[in-house]
Amino acid sequence: MLNLVLFGPPGAGKGTQSEHLINKYNLTHISTGDLFRKHLGEGTQLGKNAQKYMDEGNLVPDEIVIGMVEDKLQNTPGTQGFIFDGFPRTIAQAEALDKLMSQHNTQINTMLALQVPEEELLKRLLNRGKTSGRADDQNEAKIKNRISVYNKETTPVANYYKNQGKLNTVKGVGSIEDIFERLSAIVDKHV
Ligand code: AMP
Repeated sequence: MLNLVLFGPPGAGKGTQSEHLINKYNLTHISTGDLFRKHLGEGTQLGKNAQKYMDEGNLVPDEIVIGMVEDKLQNTPGTQGFIFDGFPRTIAQAEALDKLMSQHNTQINTMLALQVPEEELLKRLLNRGKTSGRADDQNEAKIKNRISVYNKETTPVANYYKNQGKLNTVKGVGSIEDIFERLSAIVDKHV
């Protein structure tokens, strides 16, 4: 199996690059943001529990996120691998993911960390807000909060993977194709 973590701040291009990586390497996409939005749309209890955090751009509590990922892993048998997008966002989530991977007799092969300057992120997210219909992309204060939550709570996760020798930083600015080539060059070392 090939299991990747695609890491980076909101607006770094994780969703876009995930689509390309999934096609090239035949992986199953696990985006916790997408999963939460699906639950919200379906009005499930999990969606209701997550909504107040998402509305403010804060992190949903670890146990909710981890339980949801565990479910998704259990319900995706026989895949060639996973790409985790927007997860893990805390050290507790990263530890839980390692545990889940080993329960499934596999492991995270490598982590790809997209790096994009903050003013570019703000520009991209405000732009995305015009068409995505995402409430959390429409308000500058909420976007700034998400970036600040990322800086405070999520950046330590990069170190967690660095300590395992799995961190690869990738410049997330340029054309979609160029960024995809940079990512593929790293992934190719693991297939
Ligand atoms: P995203 O689509 O990844 O930007 O996620 C949208 C929102 O969902 C975030 O602002 C959080 O409120 C919540 N969320 C998504 N993934 C996670 C996660 N791994 N941990 C905590 N909250 C998350």
